[in-house]
Amino acid sequence: MNQYIMALDQGTTSSRTILFDRKGTIVAQANQEFEQIFPKPGWVEHNPEEIWQTQLQTMRQVLKETGIDGTQIAAIGITNQRETTIVWNRKTGKPVYNAIVWQCRRTSPLIEQMVKAGYQETIRRKTGLVPDAYFSGTKIQWILENAIGAKEQVEDLLFGTVDAWLMWNLSGGNIHATDVTNASRTMLYSIHTLEWDDELLKLMNIPKTMLPKVQSSSGIFGYTKKELLGAQIPISGVAGDQQAALFGQCCFKKGDVKNTYGTGCFLLMNTGDTPVQSKNGLVTTIAASTGPVEYALEGSVFVAGAAVQWLRDEMRMIESAPESEQAALQVEDTGGVYVVPAFTGLGAPYWKQNARGMVTGLTRGSRKEHLIRAVLEALAYQTYDVLGAMEQDADIPIQTLKADGGASKNNLLMQFQADITGAQVVRPSVIETTGLGAAYLAGLAVGYWNSKEEIIKNNSTSDVFSPKMERAAAEEKLKGWKQAVSCALFYAQEEARLKEKE
Ligand code: ADP
Repeated sequence: MNQYIMALDQGTTSSRTILFDRKGTIVAQANQEFEQIFPKPGWVEHNPEEIWQTQLQTMRQVLKETGIDGTQIAAIGITNQRETTIVWNRKTGKPVYNAIVWQCRRTSPLIEQMVKAGYQETIRRKTGLVPDAYFSGTKIQWILENAIGAKEQVEDLLFGTVDAWLMWNLSGGNIHATDVTNASRTMLYSIHTLEWDDELLKLMNIPKTMLPKVQSSSGIFGYTKKELLGAQIPISGVAGDQQAALFGQCCFKKGDVKNTYGTGCFLLMNTGDTPVQSKNGLVTTIAASTGPVEYALEGSVFVAGAAVQWLRDEMRMIESAPESEQAALQVEDTGGVYVVPAFTGLGAPYWKQNARGMVTGLTRGSRKEHLIRAVLEALAYQTYDVLGAMEQDADIPIQTLKADGGASKNNLLMQFQADITGAQVVRPSVIETTGLGAAYLAGLAVGYWNSKEEIIKNNSTSDVFSPKMERAAAEEKLKGWKQAVSCALFYAQEEARLKEKE
């Protein structure tokens, strides 16, 4: 009987299960959305039970649809929304609070206190991260301080990111573990010694007894309990979503880079066995690997595909995201129009929280199609900026960029990305690279695949976009982009000046 790998892709808005065969082809997939809870402005939560139930239902759904039996699953791989924090009681298995989602800003004041107390450099040196409410540390601290009854039962409490929560439930409470990539996003884990850091735990008042055991991303974490899927299946691959995508894109060598064009953009570069410290506001993180620890540089763009959604939902210039391509093709270029989608400030390499969106270069002849094209091009320009920062930090020139995520389906965007960066942009045939990465990590651990070389052979490229634009023309366009960014930065500066006056 054929054997398959089951990948659980637990994302921010939905839980998904994908079955892969030996060729890395998708055999079946199922998806279920779940509730987004916004108790206050800036707060974001999920119900952990709903995360688990939707995940379990999609697992059962793919088996039912295909008639595949639990005994035909060679292994399970898990990839997950990163940083999202769950605390539960080890005796009852019940969470003491909702999951606090990575997007949630409620712990910003705790971060401000830490920075004021001078911990910025310590955190950066030990964890590779810029202190931020985004990471799990202060979210755990908040739950322990604020969840009703948490203090009283603290000895029985366990913390986990979503991967750990799923493993706990899959194994009937036998596994309390996570992998190095997820641990590296907690702001509690030393990426150098590969241990939970006592100083940071003390700083955030978190008892060590709560923390999961940390394992390599590829290896056996434990087994599912038989009642769930009719077999005890090894769980043998775990990685946070962006690291899983890096692995799924076969970025195994130092200098390999992938960019996921989703709601935001996430760029990761494999930097091999060296944790490169950024001078340009990127973070250092652990990459998923099958052997000794590997590192990655990571930079994100807050608003990418979300700007296309903005054109659709708020501006009402297009009916669907894919329509942006046809609209943009109706004009030769943007006619000098630039859009800087700094709706929530500017991230790497600018880091200006109070920058706001900007449209520059409007003339009497500017049309809606120019604006739509300018939005698509903005995704490429923002990526160019982060890539530049990565090249500088790692001192490695980037010749190939591997693309995935929803907006990577846009050919105009992919071609423009190649033109602007002067690098080849490669889009794989399976753009579910996150799930694929988790499947590869799991399959390699149990001998379903024998080596990374075998996987590389599997990995089929569907399209390659090579630079076609003259370099001088690309530079000219980049000049306009830089000018537009300067306007957004100037706005931020004025904003700060006016606030100070008040
Ligand atoms: P996420 O995982 O962040 O939810 P996805 O990878 O599913 O995101 O990609 C969805 C994003 O991609 C949306 O923001 C959408 O606007 C954008 N998108 C999807 N298809 C296209 C397209 N053909 N052209 C441009 N943008 C697109």
